[in-house]
Amino acid sequence: MKAEILAVGTELLMGHTVNTNAAEIARMLAEIGVGVYYQTVVGDNPERLEEAVHTAVARAELVVACGGLGPTEDDLTRETVASVLGLELVRNERWAQRLMQFFERRGRVPTENNFRQALVPVGAELLENEHGTAPGIYLTHRGVTVVLLPGPPHEMRALMHDHVLPRLSQALEGKSGTAVLVSRVLRVVGLGESRMVEALEPILSSQSNPTIAPLAKSAEVHLRITSRAETRAAAEELNERCAQQIYERLGPAIYGEDEVTLEEAVGRLLRQQGLSLATAESCTGGLIGHRVTNVAGSSAYYLGGIVAYSNSLKAAGLGVDPALIERDGAVSEAVARAMATGVRERTDAGVGLSVTGIAGPGGGSEDKPVGLTYIAIASAAEVQCVRREFWGGREQVKLRAAQAALEFLRRHLLGTVSA
Ligand code: ATP
Ligand code: MG
Repeated sequence: MKAEILAVGTELLMGHTVNTNAAEIARMLAEIGVGVYYQTVVGDNPERLEEAVHTAVARAELVVACGGLGPTEDDLTRETVASVLGLELVRNERWAQRLMQFFERRGRVPTENNFRQALVPVGAELLENEHGTAPGIYLTHRGVTVVLLPGPPHEMRALMHDHVLPRLSQALEGKSGTAVLVSRVLRVVGLGESRMVEALEPILSSQSNPTIAPLAKSAEVHLRITSRAETRAAAEELNERCAQQIYERLGPAIYGEDEVTLEEAVGRLLRQQGLSLATAESCTGGLIGHRVTNVAGSSAYYLGGIVAYSNSLKAAGLGVDPALIERDGAVSEAVARAMATGVRERTDAGVGLSVTGIAGPGGGSEDKPVGLTYIAIASAAEVQCVRREFWGGREQVKLRAAQAALEFLRRHLLGTVSA
């Protein structure tokens, strides 16, 4: 299936908004075996948009357009696509009701323009948008499938996942000559890319179907396994066999799969073990707390944290003995341990997690270089601490330190920590 992605919006042409939607849609389509042949960007201009839609439906079998479904005059995608295909627009009463309720709840009166968002070309399906007022549209006309999606990335993403990919996969399945591509991502932390590749050497060198692609992310590696088969189930079976072999070799270094984040994996373990967490952060400046609270439902286990950046707050807020800071320095094992213990005792948390390090670019010395970081965990039973040295600029060091702290906590919770 030949696909074209059509991103609509003058802000994209001007470079004010980066066209991340096209990249994301292309990746999602690749996963189900749809090849993207063209990506087009066009502004909010009626003639040029019409031309772009014309061209796309003439050369592609699938056109995914995003943007320009808003209620304002310059949002033209719906009308233009209908006109190019020669389809009349009809009002979808259910969505018109939804819009009415949406405005009522906000105490606002909708204008006639707002109801344009309830218009759907004859014969098209309306795709419900849980996050906004513009629904998606899915239609097949003279052998070309056309999908219209709203521009905001989270709305586009949800509609692709929930409505578009399932429909396309179903349409593709069993079609003679088409194979389904299915990917699965294993997320690896705490092993560098080269060490991981070494551990996987025999598997990596013999691969053809599935293929295994390591992708280095910031402070973790994602292993994408992709199988091609006649049906989704058969491709999943191939992926499963390959994943088993990788699990055997990497074991607990795999913290999760697909979209699971490290903070989610940590959250699950805390929940399972009925433990609460409190953090004491110095060089990471609250980054760990930010990541932990990115997980919906984290209030079930995260009590909060203290960003004790100065020595005085380490003493006043966490009860770190100033004499200890004087003797060993703020970036030291003793202070990391005292911070973890301090936050745990002061909050009554099950686990206290602390980080203290030198983010740079200044402040390093021969025995305490930039990037030196101590991470400590205080639990009911013991206090454990690791010393790490990270490379990179200030922000990199902060990101790596936060990542390492979450990973240290995960290992602690798994009982596989080797401090
Ligand atoms: P809608 O159809 O929901 O009205 P729209 O594209 O007409 O979407 P805009 O106001 O242009 O509405 O865009 C909404 C938001 O989506 C903006 O923040 C914009 O930056 C973002 N956006 C639009 N298109 C893209 C794209 N192709 N890639 C990334 N972000 C995009
Ligand atoms: Mg727009």
